[in-house]
Amino acid sequence: MIGVAVLGATGTIGVNTLDVIRRHTGEYQIIALTAHSQYERLAKQCEEFNPDYAVLVSEEAADKLEKLLKQKGINTRVLHGADALEQVARLKEVDVVMAAIVGAAGLQSTLAAAQAGKRILLANKESLVMSGKLFMDQVRDNDATLLPIDSEHNAIFQCMSDDYAQGLDKIGVNKILLTGSGGPFRELPMAEFSKVTPEQAIAHPNWSMGKKISVDSATMMNKGLELIEACWLFATDLSKIKVVLHPQSIVHSMVEYVDGSILAQLGQPDMRTPIAHGLAWPRRIESGVSMLDLISMPDLQFAEPDMQRYPCLGLAREAMKTGGTATTILNAANEIAVQAFLDKKLNFTGIAKTVEFVLEQITARTADTIETVVSEDGHARIVAVDYIEKITMQAGAVH
Ligand code: NDP
Ligand code: MG
Repeated sequence: MIGVAVLGATGTIGVNTLDVIRRHTGEYQIIALTAHSQYERLAKQCEEFNPDYAVLVSEEAADKLEKLLKQKGINTRVLHGADALEQVARLKEVDVVMAAIVGAAGLQSTLAAAQAGKRILLANKESLVMSGKLFMDQVRDNDATLLPIDSEHNAIFQCMSDDYAQGLDKIGVNKILLTGSGGPFRELPMAEFSKVTPEQAIAHPNWSMGKKISVDSATMMNKGLELIEACWLFATDLSKIKVVLHPQSIVHSMVEYVDGSILAQLGQPDMRTPIAHGLAWPRRIESGVSMLDLISMPDLQFAEPDMQRYPCLGLAREAMKTGGTATTILNAANEIAVQAFLDKKLNFTGIAKTVEFVLEQITARTADTIETVVSEDGHARIVAVDYIEKITMQAGAVH
């Protein structure tokens, strides 16, 4: 049996992971499930999968979970606090860690999984964006296996030859073609962007995802974070990666080789495919995803992204060029701005403005220790909050 810890079990990726595992209960055993505060959903998952450990960051929610589990006669041990996330990621019974916490909150537990030499199924792209080199060093030094779950990176991984770590030039890669749908506002007149509501922004045309990544998809910061993620995962720089708009989300990304071949991975826009791939790699297992019907498929379109429409994409590219903690700052400012937008304290165009302001205010440093990364993350959040308060006050209402 392969022992699995699902960090962020109650989220979209977590629920999809459990759906794949449910189809293969003889092969995978859930050792730990974690969430922030959704104790009722976690209790149901414990009832079905009977893990050894359940973790909630919120102590209050953990007390409630403990009572619920006792009533139901389930003997899962309940832990609480952020440290407990790291604790379960390191357990010796755990072979595979699904890193599916959203945002910077996932950094320490994903790093703990790397330090413990686990197979990491990486959905939490923010941890890699925040601390790219440090994270990749930990993976290498501790013989961990890092498998991308982000659909594009999983597609690229499937289209790469195994020895890509030698360098993309050595294996004849000309370009990585990173596809993105362009989100729900691909055709909305830009003059209307400032009136966009959170409800409109989280209604992604093709994918069903958590709120934060849905907003990131609407601004295309998600593609910016993915550019950075791809640089670290595939040991390359920005010059080798081209972002291509592909509104149908059927081709999940491509690799172009010097001989003129382009390899693509196609499938339904359903995260259970990359999750199943990561769980079973190098084997293949059923994921519950229906087959793509090529005959009745819509026409596939590809286009250049309009950088004026998606300023966050340019900001991410610049941050990666700057290097060091610039990507940490970018990520932190974006998390604060997205939450402010979801809380209706900031308008949609304010997200890019906030990120730009914070990047201008803080001079990036060398990201040489995790302590530096964590302190830079904290600093950027303070600057972002101050900026949002200031512009909100100037506007006299919702900006
Ligand atoms: P969701 O918002 O649906 O779920 C987030 C999960 O993280 C929940 O289990 C939540 O617990 C937990 N969580 C939230 N805050 C904290 C915290 N401070 N400490 C510990 N746990 C916390 O997100 P998604 O599943 O959509 O995304 C998860 C990650 O995967 C993100 O990094 C995203 O970018 C990435 N990803 C997602 C894709 C998708 O299709 N959804 C595609 C590609 C990547 P609770 O429920 O208790 O709040
Ligand atoms: Mg993606």
